Amino acid sequence: MNDPSPLRGEALAAQCEAVRAGERRAVAKTITLLESTRPDLAAEGQAILEQLVPLTGRARRVGITGAPGVGKSTFIESLGLELLARGHRVAVLAIDPTSPVTGGSILGDKTRMERLAQDERAFIRPSPSGGFLGGVAHHTREAILVCEAAAYDVVIVETVGIGQSEVAVASMVDSFVVLLQPGSGDELQGMKKGVLELADLLIVNKADGEGRVAAERTRAEYDHALDLLRVGDSGWRPPVLCASAQTGEGIAEVWGAICAHQSACQGTGELAAKRRRQARAWMWSLVEEGLQETFRSHPAVSQLIPRLESEVEDQKSTPAAAARALLAAFRRP
Ligand code: GDP
Repeated sequence: MNDPSPLRGEALAAQCEAVRAGERRAVAKTITLLESTRPDLAAEGQAILEQLVPLTGRARRVGITGAPGVGKSTFIESLGLELLARGHRVAVLAIDPTSPVTGGSILGDKTRMERLAQDERAFIRPSPSGGFLGGVAHHTREAILVCEAAAYDVVIVETVGIGQSEVAVASMVDSFVVLLQPGSGDELQGMKKGVLELADLLIVNKADGEGRVAAERTRAEYDHALDLLRVGDSGWRPPVLCASAQTGEGIAEVWGAICAHQSACQGTGELAAKRRRQARAWMWSLVEEGLQETFRSHPAVSQLIPRLESEVEDQKSTPAAAARALLAAFRRP
């Protein structure tokens, strides 16, 4: 995406006002500023975000994950349209970890959720491009805040069911939903235990037509698996539901279950505690990122890095000794 031109003074105030008024273009532009690699533009984005902070924190934040092809975009569109019909405003943000194998995007460049995108009360934003997961996740967290300031009262963060991006999304939402494919028990075997532990809600999608029976069987299997795996101490037992993103069957019940999860967490104070923990962890991850950058760009350190890295690779030096040498170079006055 091209960098927009910088904003000054009055224009900046006008930009804040436009976001507050829920104008989609202003929301998109603010997020683009925040994602910018140009320090002056990123600083503008931060200046806007700081003014918007009092208006943030008001949405239901929902994470949705699932393997490619499970029906995420169809499902989010169906849920999104249901929410618009109920008078909500819906933002959909994506985290698309670049595939480590192909180097390409996994959620794909295809036009997704076209019907939802046409509605003025919906805002859809693709994944921040490039960069490492930490940076992408950081931008998405900020985008959540911008969307909340723009009065989107449901913010959905979507990711692909692979590895660390799920942990990242779970760490920025109130409820984490895992979409599953109707299938055999083999699939359950391959399901990462970690994802089940992150889930607040599991949905077997494609419970329609010939898939209905298989979906119900899969639902029962996961339900059983949760009994065996779950050790959580929050008192919330993740429900496993069947739904069809295509026919819309079960979508209202999914929303009911998401709201029930949030009410349960609100009742125990866990929701507020979770957001506080998330904000604190976010601050520390930014500090760690900043320290890494300072460390790597330190003249004495950056000079040493190539030699020590190759010594470690060639087993001429232990990683511990090399790390000690780098840290000593950093600390040397
Ligand atoms: P994503 O890759 O997870 O975003 O999946 P898509 O939403 O692109 O869907 C993948 C395929 O599954 C498409 O061909 C959809 O039409 C189909 N699909 C999605 N949801 C359903 C559903 O509820 N029932 C059926 N039968 N097909 C579905």
